[in-house]
Amino acid sequence: PETAEEDICRVCRSEGTSEKPLYHPCVCTGSIKFIHQECLVLWLKHSRKEYCELCKHRFAFTPIYSPDMPSRLPIQDICAGLITSIGTAIRYWFHYTLVAFAWLGVVPLTACRIYKCLFTGSVSSLLTLPLDMLSTENLLADCLQGCFVVTCTLCAFISLVWLREQIVHGGAPQWLEQNQPPPLNVLGQQNEVPANIAADNMALDQPANPPAGNPVVGENPDIQEEQADDEEEDNDDEEDAVIEDAADANNGAQDDMNWNALEWDRAAEELTWERVNTGANRILLYDYCQVLYLFTFAAFCPYHIGHFSVVGLGFEDYVRASHFEGLITTIVGYVLLAVTLILCHALAAVVKFQRSRRLLGICYIVVKVSLLVVVEIGVFPLICGWWLDICSLEMFDATLKDRELSFESAPGTTMFLHWLVGMVYVFYFASFILLLREVLRPGVLWFLRNLNDPDFNPVQEMIHLPIYRHLRRFILSVIVFGSIVLLMLWLPIRIIKHMLPTFLPYNVMLYSDAPVSELSLELLLLQVVLPALLEQGHTRQWLKGLVRAWTVTAGYLLDLHSYLLGDQEENENNANQQAANNNQHARNNAVPVVGEGLHAAHQAILQQGGPVGFQPYRRPVKFPLRILLLIIFMCITLLIASLICLTLPVFAGRWLMSFWTGTAKIHELYTAACGLYVCWLTIRAVTVLVAWMPQGRRVILLKVKEWSLMIIKTLVVALLLAGVVPLLLGLLFELVIVAPLRVPLDQTPLFYPWQDWALGVLHAKIIAAITLMGPQWWLKTVIEQVYANGIRNIDLHFIIRRLAAPVISVLLLSLCIPYIIAAAIVPVIGVTAEMQNLVQRRIYPFLLMVVVLMGILSFQIRQFKRLYEHIKNDKYLVGQRLVNYERKSGKSATSAQSPQTTQE
Ligand SMILES: [Zn+2]
Ligand SMILES: [Zn+2]
Repeated sequence: PETAEEDICRVCRSEGTSEKPLYHPCVCTGSIKFIHQECLVLWLKHSRKEYCELCKHRFAFTPIYSPDMPSRLPIQDICAGLITSIGTAIRYWFHYTLVAFAWLGVVPLTACRIYKCLFTGSVSSLLTLPLDMLSTENLLADCLQGCFVVTCTLCAFISLVWLREQIVHGGAPQWLEQNQPPPLNVLGQQNEVPANIAADNMALDQPANPPAGNPVVGENPDIQEEQADDEEEDNDDEEDAVIEDAADANNGAQDDMNWNALEWDRAAEELTWERVNTGANRILLYDYCQVLYLFTFAAFCPYHIGHFSVVGLGFEDYVRASHFEGLITTIVGYVLLAVTLILCHALAAVVKFQRSRRLLGICYIVVKVSLLVVVEIGVFPLICGWWLDICSLEMFDATLKDRELSFESAPGTTMFLHWLVGMVYVFYFASFILLLREVLRPGVLWFLRNLNDPDFNPVQEMIHLPIYRHLRRFILSVIVFGSIVLLMLWLPIRIIKHMLPTFLPYNVMLYSDAPVSELSLELLLLQVVLPALLEQGHTRQWLKGLVRAWTVTAGYLLDLHSYLLGDQEENENNANQQAANNNQHARNNAVPVVGEGLHAAHQAILQQGGPVGFQPYRRPVKFPLRILLLIIFMCITLLIASLICLTLPVFAGRWLMSFWTGTAKIHELYTAACGLYVCWLTIRAVTVLVAWMPQGRRVILLKVKEWSLMIIKTLVVALLLAGVVPLLLGLLFELVIVAPLRVPLDQTPLFYPWQDWALGVLHAKIIAAITLMGPQWWLKTVIEQVYANGIRNIDLHFIIRRLAAPVISVLLLSLCIPYIIAAAIVPVIGVTAEMQNLVQRRIYPFLLMVVVLMGILSFQIRQFKRLYEHIKNDKYLVGQRLVNYERKSGKSATSAQSPQTTQE
């Protein structure tokens, strides 16, 4: 019989007995105050927590040792424990060393040697391969090279696995699927070829899977999805089965290519994402070696095909002159391979070898996609980079000859730099197009790919579109990008040269005696470019506003308002309606795609971001003429904009810097950065003022007051955190590490505060980053708090009290104490002058060493204590007992008396 006063366990609702007493281990009271230890332990194991979810109190257990435990552990127990732990450590060390040796030594070395042997292409090298493998010549260089090769092959392999998933999930192109069951999970495609599926299923005598070709999608999303998943798995198996069958049936009909694809599919089957992700350790070396040899072959074949064709066609000299002989030859080989594959594919179609046809098709897709990727990611940015460089030669007073020379001296670096520049250019161009899309009426930019379009999937496009369309698009992009560079770089430079003959070239030489060279370029980049990048959001907003203003102006001037911006922009109400329509549209779209899962839902959300597709517009008279005028107007605007961008910041920067440095020539990066910042500040101030203007004078005054207070606070904080702390830190670093290493004892070290500060800024940033990534301690919490407050709610008192004061005092102490010891105490003791000098110069590193040693020692002692506890627990621990929160009389006393333990 239960009474109200009876205490029960909060988990199992039963009372406590003498066997199973009730505890109250946390702050909670009332009906959930009590719990059984067993119930709690079970729950903790289940929830993987160590504290109460309600009151966040950490549960405590006291260990219970067996009664025969001695007060101190016998020495042989400790020794035995030590030996076991050392043994474990050695075993781990051995294991990891072995793995590291295999992955960083043996595999790269063999890979590299094999590659070298294969690519020299002579028979004698093949014969001496076993000897080459064991030679010890340039071991390190070969290892490094081999690591590169291994990384490349692994990357290629992973991308192949990914491509396979793309083909499986997105469906292969029509021409490949015509006579083959398509992957059934591609719901979109089933609707198009349901008849074929059934026919083929019968024809191929496969376990007839009911084709999910029913176009009813989305009514029963969950079931549909599950079904699709099931079918996908089945299908994968089937596909592989088909391919293996094909290989068996066709023994010898197709040689290398066939084998390649077969291996690829099989290996891909083995090496799925999970396995790739579980880490390099788990992938067996054997597996890897297989893959490596496969890829050696995959690069070897095309290389030699390419090589022979290049030699045969007589292009050898050109290829050799390019400095990238291997790469180009391999790519040529792949192109030829693709052509051969197409021919074989056609041949197989004629002879009606369906299975080999499919195989050849897959091979062809792989080769095509990889070639396209090389073109899109490698060649196109490279072309852009070179073209940019050539167009801007005059800006830096360089000639084509200089570029040629630098290319001859360092082909790899030059190519990489140009590729990087081209990549940046392409990236910015693409983001500008995205911005244009947000402003303009949907449908104006019909000729450009929409990156926000949910249907846009470059890899799928690569798989599906025929090669000539890719080629057309590539040529079109080159022309567009090239002409824009011409318009925005080359022409403005000509104009500037003509109008301001003394302005150009930009001065990009580094003068060691220039006053600013103390601030290194890297530092400038770190301090200036990064914040600028972080400010990108604002910049984008302004740019958007500018583009919108331009569009509105152009629209009214040329009566193209309806064409450029659409009609709904006329009033707010309409715009809202439009937004609502969009949502509606998105929702309508969302309904049928729910069945396709998260991906589709995500895309539906993306779609809500902006209208896609076409919107009607009113066409004015003489439309083509107006469009022509619009394009001319656009070109002129771009020209003027780039003229301003090229001149104004540098001009302002030069003018400002001339106050400081006089007539000395400064690197243009400094002047440009300085000018850019001035421009940025003025624009910012103007926009802020414009935003405040309508609110009246009093508000403005109030805000100005608020802002100036904030600015003063920020300045103080900046002075402390970006001025004093880095200076002290840099000085300390110089004293502790740089001076003892660099300056011999008989010379006096010199300190340059500027350099120390610059170094200190770097160190402070690194330390802050490490602190933020590391475990929780007071510095981390404080820094996080400061970051969270930001500049707007800056709390001067908090920062000084909690961050600046402790940090500065610690730094000051660590600077002063050694100095006091060296300068005041040592002379008093009465040692020789030589000794004094030694102490003065070496005290900083010596004390650092002492501190580090103490740290290591305390760490070791803690480790030993833990080990001791561990040994003790292993031997004598028999259980543990829950500790009651806040011991009271009565209950806890009785429960403490009962010697209840749990066997763990
Ligand atoms: Zn219980
Ligand atoms: Zn609690």
